Amino acid sequence: MLQSQYEEVQKRIEAACTRCGRDRSEVTLIAVSKTKPVEMLEEIYALGERNFGENKVQELTGKYEAMPRDIHWHMIGHLQRNKVKYIIDKAELIHSVDSLRLARTISEEAQKHQCTAHILLEVNVAEEESKFGMTVEEAPKLAEEIAALPNIQIEGLMTIAPFVENPEENRPVFQKLRKLSVDIRAKNINNVTMAVLSMGMTNDYEIAIEEGATMVRVGTAIFGERNYAKAQ
Ligand SMILES: *Cc1c(COP(=O)(O)O)cnc(C)c1O
Repeated sequence: MLQSQYEEVQKRIEAACTRCGRDRSEVTLIAVSKTKPVEMLEEIYALGERNFGENKVQELTGKYEAMPRDIHWHMIGHLQRNKVKYIIDKAELIHSVDSLRLARTISEEAQKHQCTAHILLEVNVAEEESKFGMTVEEAPKLAEEIAALPNIQIEGLMTIAPFVENPEENRPVFQKLRKLSVDIRAKNINNVTMAVLSMGMTNDYEIAIEEGATMVRVGTAIFGERNYAKAQ
């Protein structure tokens, strides 16, 4: 069952790329496996998937230990500063950096591990109160401040678009994030590549690809609905 869902997502990603003249290799699919058991991740791994996304530190580290070492783990959820130490050497990319305070902690932990932390700035483009993320207006200055910290590289931007009935409604959100990344890139800040645009989820990843996403984070369409009521 997971196989056909996974293949359907792959097919749609490819079709979206074709529609807008992009090469399939420009878009990385991140299989968002939060709340799902390791057996399901193994099934998707066996189909060739190597990028997995989790939003809780404990779940990411647990699955990290249980799964093969060639997986690229993405931390996509809100990150508390006291938990950075647990994932600094496990998450290849932290998508959810939304403050200088958090970035400072990441920088300190990266220095301890003598590694470079690769991060994205999370931008609350739609300015939803319920969501984390910096505003579009704050982002350029924060990018400069964060990029000046040791052992940090800003690879791009991430946003969580609002939940909408018609995914077309999110197109302007994705366009805005892309424009912001172009503006920040133009500042030529050291340690800022702006190569990554992490946007698009189950409901709107095809629109996000049309608007320039280089990473789409897809959970439900691959693994099925999440059941938060039941402890998993
Ligand atoms: C859960 C989650 C996703 C995946 O959502 P789906 O709608 O299930 O595809 C993507 N990004 C973030 C940050 C998430 O928390």
